[in-house]
Formats: sequence, structure tokens, C-alpha cells
Amino acid sequence: MSDAAPLLSVRDLSVGFEGFDGYADVVDGVDLTVEHGEVVTIAGETGCGKSVTTKAITGLLNEPPAHVDGTVEFDGQDLRELPDDERRELNGDRISVIFQNPLSSLNPVFTIGEQLTDTAQFGGDGNTGILGYFRRRFSSTDRSAARERVLELLEEVRMPDPESVMDSYPSELSGGMRQRAIIAQALLNEPDLLIADEPGSALDVTVHDEILSLLEDLIAERDMSILMITHNLGVARRLSDRVYIMYGGRIAETAPTAEIFDAPHHPYTQGLIASIPRLSGESMAGGIGGSVPEYTDPPMGCRFHPRCPYADESCRSSEPADVSFGEQARSACIRHSDGDSGPVPTLQETKRRLSEHEPTPEPAEGNQ
Ligand code: SF4
Repeated sequence: MSDAAPLLSVRDLSVGFEGFDGYADVVDGVDLTVEHGEVVTIAGETGCGKSVTTKAITGLLNEPPAHVDGTVEFDGQDLRELPDDERRELNGDRISVIFQNPLSSLNPVFTIGEQLTDTAQFGGDGNTGILGYFRRRFSSTDRSAARERVLELLEEVRMPDPESVMDSYPSELSGGMRQRAIIAQALLNEPDLLIADEPGSALDVTVHDEILSLLEDLIAERDMSILMITHNLGVARRLSDRVYIMYGGRIAETAPTAEIFDAPHHPYTQGLIASIPRLSGESMAGGIGGSVPEYTDPPMGCRFHPRCPYADESCRSSEPADVSFGEQARSACIRHSDGDSGPVPTLQETKRRLSEHEPTPEPAEGNQ
């Protein structure tokens, strides 16, 4: 890890939504960093606040009913303080996002060539103005240089027959081809930070694997920082340098990838790892019992306590603080620091306890 300031630094990020059922407190005090050239994954079950965290980072939740607090610093600039036009410029130029669903990320009424060439020509320009747009859009030199760049990228992402894909509409492409087009579009302006939300997870297993291999190669070839979201720990293990495990809108644990898989500290991380399907049949049957919390009425104290086999009264009454394990790892569990609650649990012990544990039922009303 370098001594330089991180490329992305998120501190005490909180996100809530005003709704008919009350205020949903979805992300609570998230701290994370992405170093230059580092691949970071946020992992956890669906509904743990991963996508909301990245949407808040990219500025997509700046309007009510969302409420965002905290600091999001990119290369020394506080993104939440930037004027909208500067923010848009940065998002198109230095930060790119690959959203979960490739079909809804592409405009159905324009060909792939038109959309990607527009991105190559205007991405990161903020508001070019209508005259500026038409002047450049119809400048044959500008347009053909941008088209060449798009073709290069389509080849780089191993798109079959890129020339004919340029003239195709999104609905004419397979899911895997649409995903490749989205990845090419995200890389067109050589971003410093790529944010990828469950890339390829909507595809079937073999195509998903091809997309992961492609990402692996692109990561190896480019000096790019990546913040990736996944519910699949196998993806996190395969692609990332560091993993953040998120539960109930909070970071439960973070560590370098090898460390978190070799010696997970947090009972939730241990439960996730024990639940990974294995061909040997050794995985924990049934996974972690219970489900992620309701954000309009989250559990008091540790949000994992209704599902945790180690939970006691202290877990229900106070929020666990982060405990460091060496320089780069931390985990938020009362058992790590409270001698009366026992030592850091082992993965085997947690697996045994989880398989016998009955989750606490959700309270009928009010917090528990
Ligand atoms: Fe389990 Fe308590 Fe640790 Fe939360 S703080 S993970 S409930 S032991």
C-alpha cells in the first residue's frame, strides 16, 4: 500500500430515505478507501446497502427523498461540495460506472455505435451547449476519430464482430454482448476510478465467468482503481485486493482479500464464507438463518444480533466499535474487545453454532 493519499476516501457516509413507512436508515457511518491502482470489493447479501453506498458516492442520491451525510473525497476534492456541472464532468471523465443491468444502461433507440461514439466524443465535457454539440457531432474528423476509438475498445473487450455491433441496437445483442458494450463504454475515457455494480451477475454462469475473465485481464493491463459491488464472495476473492463486508448498512469487517478469507474475524463474514457452496459438500447447509434487517426499524446495537449465534445483551444495547487487526484489517464485533464475551470466534465454531442457531424473530413493533 502506498503512502500517497487514497484516490477515493469515504468517511462517515450515511444515507436515509423518507418514505410512506417512515424514515429508512439504509447506510450508517460507512468509512472506506480505494487506493491508486487498488481493486476494492464491497460484499454482502442483497439488501445490505452496497448499491446505495455506491450511488451516494457517485452523487446519484443528491435529491430528496434521499438524505446523504458524510464526506466523499476523490483525489483530494470533496465531491459533495462540487457544483453540479463540475461533478458531471468528473463523473464522465475520471469516474465511470457500470450499472447492474446492461439493458437498462443502454438507450434502446440508438445503435451501440451512436451511443458509444457520443460517449467517446462528449464524455466528461459537462454541458457542451447545443451549438457546441452539433458542431462537434457533425464534424467528420472528430466523429471518425471517436468511432475509431470505440472500435478499438470493442475489440479490447473481445466483442465478436465489432463493426456490425456498431450498427446494432441493444435489443439485437445477447446479454453478454451488451455487458461487453457497457464495459467498453465505461473505459472509453480512461477513468481513474471504475465503479462496477455486480458486473455480469444477471448473465448465465458461463457468460458471467467470461465477463469476470475479461475484467481480470483489464485489471491486469490497466493501472485503474476499481470499486466493485458483489453478493458473490467468489468474485470478491478472484478480482479484488481488499474486501469490505457490509451488513445492515454498516461495514462489519475489512481486510486485504487473502487475509479476510484465511482468517475472517466477524461472525457475519465467517457465516458468509461458511455458506459458499463447495463441491466437497462441506458448506453450511441453509446459510445464515434469518434475513437482513428492515431499515425503517433496524435492530438496536449490533444490527446483526438477531441472526448472530454469539449475541448477548451487550450486543443488543450498544453498537460495536471497530477493532483493528494489524494495520489493514478491522472488524466491528463486541467479542473482539470485551473479555467477558469470549475470544474472537473461529470459523469452525461459528459454522457449528450458526447451523444450530434459531434467529431471533423480528420484533412486532419498535426497536429491539
Ligand atoms: Fe454477534 Fe454481538 Fe459480535 Fe454483533 S457484536 S457480531 S451480535 S457477537
